[in-house]
Amino acid sequence: MINLDDPKKFRPLRSQAHQVAMNMLRPISRTYDRAEHEYPRELDMLAAMIDGLSESGAAEGAGASGVRRDDSAEETGVKNGANLASVMSIAEMCWGDVGLLLSMPRQGLGNSAIASVADDEQAERFAGVWAAMAITEPGTGSDSANIRTTATLDGDCYVLNGEKIFVTAGDRCDAVVVWATLDKELGRAAIKSFVVPKGTPGMNVERLEHKLGIRASDTATIRFENCRVPAENLLGSPEVDPKQGFAGAMATFDNTRPLVAAMAVGCARASLDLTRELLERAGVEVDYDRPAVTQSAAAARFLQMEADWEAAHLLTLQAAWMADNRMPNSLEASMAKARAGRVGSDITLGCVELAGPLGYSETELLEKWARDSKILDIFEGTQQIQQLIVARRVLGLTSAELR
Ligand SMILES: Cc1cc2nc3c(=O)[nH]c(=O)nc-3n(C[C@H](O)[C@H](O)[C@H](O)COP(=O)(O)OP(=O)(O)OC[C@H]3O[C@@H](n4cnc5c(N)ncnc54)[C@H](O)[C@@H]3O)c2cc1C
Repeated sequence: MINLDDPKKFRPLRSQAHQVAMNMLRPISRTYDRAEHEYPRELDMLAAMIDGLSESGAAEGAGASGVRRDDSAEETGVKNGANLASVMSIAEMCWGDVGLLLSMPRQGLGNSAIASVADDEQAERFAGVWAAMAITEPGTGSDSANIRTTATLDGDCYVLNGEKIFVTAGDRCDAVVVWATLDKELGRAAIKSFVVPKGTPGMNVERLEHKLGIRASDTATIRFENCRVPAENLLGSPEVDPKQGFAGAMATFDNTRPLVAAMAVGCARASLDLTRELLERAGVEVDYDRPAVTQSAAAARFLQMEADWEAAHLLTLQAAWMADNRMPNSLEASMAKARAGRVGSDITLGCVELAGPLGYSETELLEKWARDSKILDIFEGTQQIQQLIVARRVLGLTSAELR
């Protein structure tokens, strides 16, 4: 029988993350939504606490670096591991605040990229570094195979030239994982990722974006001009293997898309929880045991949103669980991201609507969550791109055959 409950061993972790979200993130949520570009100092203490929990083993594996695939899985049979722990704790933290979660030191998407692609020596060397991830360029977003930033080997360094835009935590981080091509002529197989420490000459943060949502999180444009990076900062193998194609770099997405799906699940859960409270206060009863058609229109709408949320939640857990068990999960990671990204936006906006004037006003956080959730359907691959990936995999077509 399928058991849809949370694994028992992660319940304390989930409950801790929920407490942190409620007591440390929610109280400062509105402040940093208004004070865009101001660094939330409170997060330093929180990040130190999370580091402490990880070191003590209490939150082992959870967080952005928890996506590293564990070689022991084959020997020990199926397991609930660090990927599952990560999506569960990230969803809880985003129940508190997505923008603040994205600003958490040492929990960047670049940390997940390092965990996904680095060899053991690199994983150890970059442990404890707060890393952002820089793929998008002025002419390249969805079509990441089209990257123009170049990396040219010169002695024992690569020299990077190009511009990266929309880099989450790009200003505050310690290092940026930059996607660049070793040789444009060799196509997508030549795209590699490089860890570039902040302060490296030739790397400059040019500006920060003003945004609709996740305003607590900084989003930077970074220019690389003859920026020299030690050759050993190329993540994984420097070999260009046309047979492997884009697989090396894309492995990052199999791990990060479930994390972004979890962010959408957490933010949507926050909206549902508050809306249910507001509906109850207004005298609208939501009964989970009776058919929706026999209830009020508001309750029926709410129950539909709960069902959408559950589907997104389960797909997210499935994609992470497959990663824990070293199963290929590109299809499931994209399905989770597509479903959670879309219903995250639909639910948070639906909750604004159901709560009426309270939903739209700044008295409550519902309007903020509706703004915050939109990005989760855009970055790490948009809704349309996830659907394209799912369609290709289901139909067995290549990216050249279905674009
Ligand atoms: C706040 C914020 C934070 C971000 N953080 C990061 C980050 O940390 N690192 C990073 O590298 N990037 C980041 N991004 C960039 C983000 O990943 C891109 O915006 C996204 O991948 C889309 O790329 P694009 O903006 O170039 O849009 P485009 O690729 O130009 O797409 C525009 C529209 O066309 C659609 N479209 C494109 N191709 C197809 C197709 N073949 N079929 C159907 N529809 C298609 C897209 O879905 C989209 O709706 C961030 C963006 C924002 C706004």
